[in-house]
Amino acid sequence: MTFTPHGKHLIAGEWIGTEETFLSAPAHGTAHAFSVGSPELVDAAARAAEEAFWTYGYTTRAERAAFLNAIADEIEARAEAITEIGTSETGLPVARLQGERGRTTGQLRLFAEHILNGAYLDRRHDVALPDRAPLPRPDLRMMQRPIGPVAVFGASNFPLAFSTAGGDTAAALAAGCPVVVKGHGAHPGTGEIVAEAIHAAIEKCGMPKGVFSLVQGGNRRVGEALVQHPLIKAVGFTGSLGGGRALFDLCAQRPEPIPFFGELGAVNPMFMLPQAIARRGAELGRGWAGSLAMGAGQFCTNPGIAVVIAGPEADAFVEAARAALSETGAQVMLTDGIAQAYSKGAAVIGEQAGVQTLITSMCDRREAKPFLFRVAAEDWLGNHALSEEVFGPLGLVVVARDADEMDRVARSFVGQLTTTLHMDDDDAALARRLLPVLERMAGRVLANGFPTGVEVCDAMVHGGPYPASTNFGATSVGTLSIRRFLRPVCYQNLPAAILPADLA
Ligand code: NAP
Repeated sequence: MTFTPHGKHLIAGEWIGTEETFLSAPAHGTAHAFSVGSPELVDAAARAAEEAFWTYGYTTRAERAAFLNAIADEIEARAEAITEIGTSETGLPVARLQGERGRTTGQLRLFAEHILNGAYLDRRHDVALPDRAPLPRPDLRMMQRPIGPVAVFGASNFPLAFSTAGGDTAAALAAGCPVVVKGHGAHPGTGEIVAEAIHAAIEKCGMPKGVFSLVQGGNRRVGEALVQHPLIKAVGFTGSLGGGRALFDLCAQRPEPIPFFGELGAVNPMFMLPQAIARRGAELGRGWAGSLAMGAGQFCTNPGIAVVIAGPEADAFVEAARAALSETGAQVMLTDGIAQAYSKGAAVIGEQAGVQTLITSMCDRREAKPFLFRVAAEDWLGNHALSEEVFGPLGLVVVARDADEMDRVARSFVGQLTTTLHMDDDDAALARRLLPVLERMAGRVLANGFPTGVEVCDAMVHGGPYPASTNFGATSVGTLSIRRFLRPVCYQNLPAAILPADLA
């Protein structure tokens, strides 16, 4: 089944086109024209979302669960067409798109189960104590309620799982919040077909039309207008630090500031402890290379920095990584802009004082090959440029003189999504010493693995201190991510006749 996008916006059940268009820039296949978004379209979508909230925010959990499952079904019904346009636009391989579709429908179904279970409401009840002295206590009940219309900015690197019907949208819809998606310019056709699937589920389940809208981009004013719209109550964002920070600042400057849940990426440092490196340094080097190069390194959890303690074992680790990365072929990147940013970022790392280049690559227009660099910890410490994310398959080895210097390096990282200890049993003392530093640094601490796979489950945290995320109390993956779109309401002495059904 071939899908040819019509290039329109979906505003509360209506496909709307405008005269001004932009052309998609697929990695391969045909470019299509898409209608450019505007603040007027954002306004129409936000108003419809607000109107829908008065119905959708009061649907039962069973009704919303059925809706989420219906979206998953409608995505599956378009499986082949989604894969076809998704691979064309992003250059990601077919197997990756298929896997990501499974993850997307899986997280929609997981949220359906999660809300049916009801634990997310965090219901609390302090029974009345009318005879308490000196003051009686009223009857107090609390639960979480949806916050209202939510804006979602999808990610370029996950056209399905972190985009139109991705984790942010699933969490917001599960909570009871209508969603307005700002389409990502890297995959507008994929956005359109997924929006079509959501639209079909809305019809099937009889949901209010304004519960979902997709406004395509093509103009920076779309995103700006969306986060500034007075009816939008929160924003979910995955993307760059610069873009995320600009939108975060706009949210903070509003007359009514709103939370901006930005997931902005990280370098995800790995600490290679001495015994692990001595026993399996070469294996770890090859493992790191595989993780770095996977998907052209275009993961926010890509482990871009490995910290080692100087010595022949560390050299063997580095050599194994270098040999494996040297054999990695060129891979297509998501957009021309990301490929350019990658080349530029690699050049900046390569010219820093004390940096030794182990692999340098020529990149074609939209293709990336790995880069590998090495630097002494004393040169790395204090040089901010060496701890900035370069989105792509780029690795930097930081060589510490000893455990104390490794500790100093650990303390110098800004907020990260993940950090990893590679350790054996004999490394436990150093690992225990580092752990308080690592858990303060990152949202997820791993041992003996690579952080690129992010399980969608109850215990996952995909977030971390700034700049990994703009809100350290939140995660953008897993069931806990629903908390971003809820707020607690306390009901004091409400008669049973008017208590919300979930509290009665
Ligand atoms: P991006 O440039 O931050 O864009 C993300 C979204 O935000 C797009 O829809 C973009 O709209 C919008 N946007 C960005 N800056 C804006 C501004 N100042 N005003 C209004 N809207 C704005 O991210 P990207 O295009 O996905 O990738 C570029 C870089 O992001 C990569 O090189 C990488 O460093 C990083 N990245 C990080 C992750 C992660 O997981 N954290 C994932 C992907 C990419 P327009 O497209 O219309 O400008």
